[in-house]
Amino acid sequence: MISFRQVEKHFGDFHVLKAINLQIERGEVVVVVGPSGSGKSTLLRCINRLETVTSGELVVSGHQVNDKKTDINKLRRDIGMVFQHFNLYPHRKVIDNITLAPMKVLGLTRQEAEQTAMSYLEKVGIADKAGQYPSQLSGGQQQRVAIARGLAMKPQVMLFDEPTSALDPEMVGEVLDVMKALAKEGMTMVVVTHEMGFAREVADRVVFMDQGRIVEEAAPGEFFTSPREERARLFLNRVL
Ligand code: ADP
Ligand code: MG
Repeated sequence: MISFRQVEKHFGDFHVLKAINLQIERGEVVVVVGPSGSGKSTLLRCINRLETVTSGELVVSGHQVNDKKTDINKLRRDIGMVFQHFNLYPHRKVIDNITLAPMKVLGLTRQEAEQTAMSYLEKVGIADKAGQYPSQLSGGQQQRVAIARGLAMKPQVMLFDEPTSALDPEMVGEVLDVMKALAKEGMTMVVVTHEMGFAREVADRVVFMDQGRIVEEAAPGEFFTSPREERARLFLNRVL
């Protein structure tokens, strides 16, 4: 589903991603961990071309991401992304936040889009909030709206960039539960998070990044009990 081959990324003089090789299969849940500034967000943002790679090959759901001929709208249709700060449209009701893209991009009628939206709002447990504005919802509820919005495009892959980092602690669980359910249903997911419990429980694979490199890649059982790399060991000592 996602294939990085020798991907490099520079921001001017700054070498942010170094020789990234990573293959993610359909249905896999990969959790990316590592210190702040190690390139996790950039890695994620390259997948839907919010950032362009400098060199190397990146293929996502059959699209050559860095090929000029690639239709970026088609690529993004296949990829849902959930950010730390929800990024909902503040002046639109919850339901309209979800129906907008399916109507505009997939060409659904309002009625079809609203039906789909309601089914996803039910799935994330907040169907009763459909008529509210984002500001009337808690952070955890807003993030669940953002997840429903991503799912309503029926993506092949869902990307999560620290989806619980901006939440009050008591709301982290409700968002992680929705993500766990999604993982169980077989969604392909790439998740950047500091929630090591989630990584341990849900990840098929943990990818540890440091200074722009993938330093270690392992099953969670292995990564959390006996990391091979010293840098991974130091990181785990700090966060666990
Ligand atoms: P992480 O998500 O692991 O904290 P990021 O991918 O956000 O790391 O950032 C990696 C490094 O790249 C950081 O040093 C950051 O300052 C730098 N960086 C990120 N975005 C840009 C940008 N648009 N221009 C220049 N440097 C950037
Ligand atoms: Mg980040």
